[in-house]
Amino acid sequence: MSPKNAGGSPAYRILAIETSCDETAAAVVADGRHILSNRVASQIELHRRFGGVYPEVASRQHVLAIQTVVEDALADASVAHVRELDAIAVTNGPGLAGSLLVGVNLAKGLAFASGLPLIPVNHLEGHIYSNWLCTDGSPVADLQASEDGNGPAGGSASDSARTQRSGSASDQFPALILIVSGGHTELVLMEGHCRYRLLGATLDDAAGEAFDKVARLLELGYPGGPAIQAAAESGDGGRFQLPRPLMRPGRRTELQPHAQAPTLPTVLPVRGEHRFNFSFSGLKTAVLNLMRQLEREGAEARQTQTASDIAAAFQMVVVDVLLGKTADAAAEFGVKQVCICGGVSANGLLRQAAEQHFAKLGLPLHCPPLFLCTDNAAMIGAAAYYRQSYAVARQPSPMGGPHSTPHDKPSEPSARDFLALDVYASLPLVDSIQR
Ligand code: ADP
Ligand code: MG
Repeated sequence: MSPKNAGGSPAYRILAIETSCDETAAAVVADGRHILSNRVASQIELHRRFGGVYPEVASRQHVLAIQTVVEDALADASVAHVRELDAIAVTNGPGLAGSLLVGVNLAKGLAFASGLPLIPVNHLEGHIYSNWLCTDGSPVADLQASEDGNGPAGGSASDSARTQRSGSASDQFPALILIVSGGHTELVLMEGHCRYRLLGATLDDAAGEAFDKVARLLELGYPGGPAIQAAAESGDGGRFQLPRPLMRPGRRTELQPHAQAPTLPTVLPVRGEHRFNFSFSGLKTAVLNLMRQLEREGAEARQTQTASDIAAAFQMVVVDVLLGKTADAAAEFGVKQVCICGGVSANGLLRQAAEQHFAKLGLPLHCPPLFLCTDNAAMIGAAAYYRQSYAVARQPSPMGGPHSTPHDKPSEPSARDFLALDVYASLPLVDSIQR
């Protein structure tokens, strides 16, 4: 079974809804890869005054925004009625319960009223599949060619990456996925579509959370990731030394075949059980201690140049750790490609360092375009399509019929099926993860 749109059959169009945190998002995605519309109503301005996401405010804002966002996404995709589509997908976790409920309840209502199958999507699987979305505007009719790996070659590096992305399973898997967002930092070995092995995760704060908290300490603004990146541009990352958590001193030559890579950090992952795990909480404390020490010495830690230098040192450490562990896992598991996703994958230094490093190795690297790095619904539509195509046979989906694929007619769902979906429902990604 494959999600291929063979024989010119009409595109399988999914309305996807995402409200797991502070973005109210809806998108229409065709055949899991073509974005027909993608609306995101960000709540950043609303939460800025709190310096972080205020959960109750987030869920109330979703209630206010969701109808317009969904209507706009349908209109952008020239969909007059939900019934014209093939399925509805919604993020059902992980995330803030009150926020998730808004999207899940709307999706249930739409699916029940229209009779369309409802596909629950794990938010992290959504981030992973942001790397499978085409963003070059190629029409759905080109899908056959690109699915066969014969899509238009040439163009930008990312165009050719996307063409390559469409290659056969043996070209693509195993793939190493680094998920780096505000809530998660995970290294996942993707053995095939919708088949994952969790290699490591953060033991405490996520990378994005660390960016946000350090930005708050330095009073650089919210959200912290872009603020730290902007400050670091005029900073000297060498002025202050910060610890690289769960790394050990090492020489470049220790990590073959990366010896030639100029960007490889001179630290290596620790040995043992935490080799692929992360920890960013102590790094945040190290920044706080550094600031206190500077102030004891009579310096102003938040003075523009000093704050920029601290931001640059912090960003360098995070990138070193993320890249060092990703490079180590890529070598260990002999992966065919590396994908980075989640909000922190928007970070310029991380993207640049990863590009340089994996280019040296000739290992394909994929990062979503910037607008697909942070939360959006297009990635949820993509994940839903692949899950519906590849995972239902192994893992029955109550809402889509036990063996439905995007090109089967779904069995008629019952009211009970819809009521069964809640935000604590067992999450597909977690279910399929083996340690
Ligand atoms: P989540 O899924 O956890 O709600 P997102 O995937 O939307 O979060 O990612 C949001 C996180 O990404 C925030 O912590 C934010 O600071 C971080 N982020 C966004 N842009 C950048 C950047 N350029 N550099 C580093 N971090 C970034
Ligand atoms: Mg996210």
